[in-house]
Parts: sequence; structure tokens; C-alpha cells
Amino acid sequence: MERGHDIAPSFGPSPFGGGRCSVCGAPISRNEVARGGICASPDCLRTKAMREIQEENERRRMLCRTLSAESTPDRAEAGIDEERRFALAVMPALEHALVPQDPERVKTFTERIRGVILQAVAGAARDAEAGEDAEANPDTPPDEWLQPDSDPEFHSYLLAGCATCRGYCCETGKTHAYLDDKAIRRYIAQFPGRDSAEILQDYLSYLPEESYEDCCVFQGPMGCTLPRTKRAHICNSYLCRSLIELQERLEEAEQPAAVIGSADKANRLVRLTLFDGERELSQRDVASGPDQASESTT
Ligand code: SF4
Ligand code: SF4
Ligand SMILES: [Zn+2]
Repeated sequence: MERGHDIAPSFGPSPFGGGRCSVCGAPISRNEVARGGICASPDCLRTKAMREIQEENERRRMLCRTLSAESTPDRAEAGIDEERRFALAVMPALEHALVPQDPERVKTFTERIRGVILQAVAGAARDAEAGEDAEANPDTPPDEWLQPDSDPEFHSYLLAGCATCRGYCCETGKTHAYLDDKAIRRYIAQFPGRDSAEILQDYLSYLPEESYEDCCVFQGPMGCTLPRTKRAHICNSYLCRSLIELQERLEEAEQPAAVIGSADKANRLVRLTLFDGERELSQRDVASGPDQASESTT
């Protein structure tokens, strides 16, 4: 049987024993049902992608409305009213529990980083013998990796965004922390003369006693415990979509103060921060409750 857009939409039982494409109604296999209920037609895939973008945009608009309503008394108290324009953006929220550092995870990290360090030290020694210093190596620019890909004017606001979120994206750092050959080569360029055992000891010395369950081993209660100069490039440069939105809104605001929210996976606002570029004016947890959704429509 031919499938896809040539078939008139139908939503009855599928003759394939699977289901029906949620866009065109064509019969689809069980695998296609499991992959999102869509057939392989490019038109249907595009339509589904567009729907997802629209749903995500709508979700973000709703959260911003919730944040605007929830922050009204906080803004009034801080003197950030409608006269003084402010930027408003909602970050994700780290939802993992803080737990004692797991020795098994430390062991996995140690074994991995030891191999990376040995390889980087050997590579740096080879380069030195060949007369190439780290400064001359295009893979190790002197300071660039310390700079975030953001407007320096807004850097402090973006840090406030990450502090409100508490490191949702660092979950992916797991037991590797993104530390690769490039990161260790930069370390060697900064601290020449340290041998591999000293470099390993230095990294291990930053592991916090408590970290977030199943997240990056360096993700402690006050954020990342590694100094910026010793982190991987991606850890210093990454900007999530929420931070990009915050930066865009700050660019639009005349006298930017930031109203930053943090929302969990269930779309509940969990924290809110007011930040004026130099200092945090307030931060508080938001009590979640069934009235949040209704507030979002006000
Ligand atoms: S980059 Fe985004 S997801 Fe990562 S900590 Fe900052 S606000 Fe959270
Ligand atoms: S090293 Fe630091 S910034 Fe990088 S993923 Fe881990 S906690 Fe996040
Ligand atoms: Zn289809």
C-alpha cells in the first residue's frame, strides 16, 4: 500500500498493526509510532518540527507571563516598575538532588582523565621537541577560551541566569566534565613544568564533597568548582537558548534590570531573581501550586 500524502487522512485502525501518522493519517509501523507517531514523508516531518517549535515558543510565552505576574510585588519593592524597562527571561532548572560525591563516579572520572592527561603531556612534549610552543599552536589560543560567546556588557547578567538555573546543562558533564586533549594542552600551556601526576592531583583537588546526583562531578552546591582557566572550552563558552533570549531582551531594554525565572520540566516556576547588572536585588523560591497555570494567563 502506498503511504504518505497521497493517502487521504484517516484516523481509524492501521492495517499495519501500528498506528496512523498524526499529520497525514497514513498507516505507520509500530517503530514509527514509537518514534513520535509520524510517517517518513518530508512534509509530515517538517510539519511536526514546526508544531514542536510553536509549542516550545508558546510554552516560553506562558512561562514569561507567569514570571511577570509572580514578580510584580518583587519588582515594586525593588523599584523596577513599568517606567523603568526591564528584561524578563525564564531559564531551565536543575532538579537533581545534592548527594555526597560517589566514589565510583570519582574512580571513573580519575581513570578517564588520567588517560587524557598522559596523552596531552606526551603531545606537548612532542611539540616542544619539534620547536612548536603552545602560543604558536592554533589549537591553544592564549585567552580566547576563557571568553564566553556573549556581549561582555551582559556577562554578569548571564551569570545571574545560570545561578538562578543552578546548572541544568552541567548535568551532561557526568564523569568527563568535557575535559579533553585540548583542555589539558591549555592547562599545560598555563602551567608549564607540571608532570602528569601533578596535573591529575590538581584536577582531583577540585572535586566537591557533595555534587548533584548523576550530573557533572564538579557540580557542587555553589556551582562549578573548577576555576575557569582549567575548564573545557565549552564550559566557558556555552550559551543555552534561555541565555540568548535574556541577552536579546537586555539589548532591547533601555535601563536593563533583569527579572530571571527558572522553571522545572513540568513548566512550574521554581525560582525568581531580580538583578541590576551589579548585584542581586532579590532571589526567592516560588511556591508551586495549582494556581500557577491560571496566573500565567493574567
Ligand atoms: S547555560 Fe542555560 S542551562 Fe546552562 S546553567 Fe546557564 S541558564 Fe542553565
Ligand atoms: S566542569 Fe563545571 S561548567 Fe563544566 S560541565 Fe562540569 S560543572 Fe559544568
Ligand atoms: Zn504523514
